[in-house]
Amino acid sequence: MSSDMDPPARMAKGLLRGAADFLWPQRSLVSGQRGAGKGPLSAAEFAAIGFLSDPVCDACGRPMEIDLGPDTHCAACIARPPRWDRARAAIIYDAASRRIILDLKRSGRRDGLSTMTGWMHRAGAPLIAQADLIVPVPLHYTRLVRRGFNQSAWLAQGIARRAGVACHVHLVKRRRRTPTQGGLSARARRRNVAGAFAISKRAAALVRDRRVLLVDDVLTTGATVSACARALKQAGARQVDVLVLARVVRETDLTI
Ligand SMILES: [Zn+2]
Repeated sequence: MSSDMDPPARMAKGLLRGAADFLWPQRSLVSGQRGAGKGPLSAAEFAAIGFLSDPVCDACGRPMEIDLGPDTHCAACIARPPRWDRARAAIIYDAASRRIILDLKRSGRRDGLSTMTGWMHRAGAPLIAQADLIVPVPLHYTRLVRRGFNQSAWLAQGIARRAGVACHVHLVKRRRRTPTQGGLSARARRRNVAGAFAISKRAAALVRDRRVLLVDDVLTTGATVSACARALKQAGARQVDVLVLARVVRETDLTI
């Protein structure tokens, strides 16, 4: 067995890891069970997650049934092109992944962040490679103060760290507090967030003629990222790509 560490160092590391498991026993990201196995997901939970890989629609990241080559758009994107340029999602939002998303979004559970940003980094590799800067979908400041965290900012920061790209968490502002999108129809969601995002003149200087990667946790109808992308393009962004942890693929999962 080859190892860079000498035996005492390896033993010390093993002891530390054991102590960490005792103090902060790992909980499964899916079941919430403690000590369900080494790592954030059991093998069965991992197998149940729908990882998205090519072929996907280049515009919205939705899986395509047939591989028609790169830059292919799905029928929905041809009929109604999105306001952003390209989008990718790491996993499908469904019964198998719901807990991962809700624990992050509602409870602010952070211990799966490195796993999640790893998945996003892989799914969004071509987008990340072209990004000049990374920005998260923001919360309104009153909501941020009340909740104390923005999970999309955590994801954006994690990806930016991995990629060595600048991340500007407060570049896009949410200028009005919009009711939650959960349970709304696609049209109601669009109306709900229309004009909700703004970029100050000072911040626009960072965006002008740049390729921006917009990060969010979940893509449902795309109304929120669409409103954000519009604000970024109005501020002069040359390209706005979207990278999310999970996306809804079936209408029946449109509950978040
Ligand atoms: Zn599409």
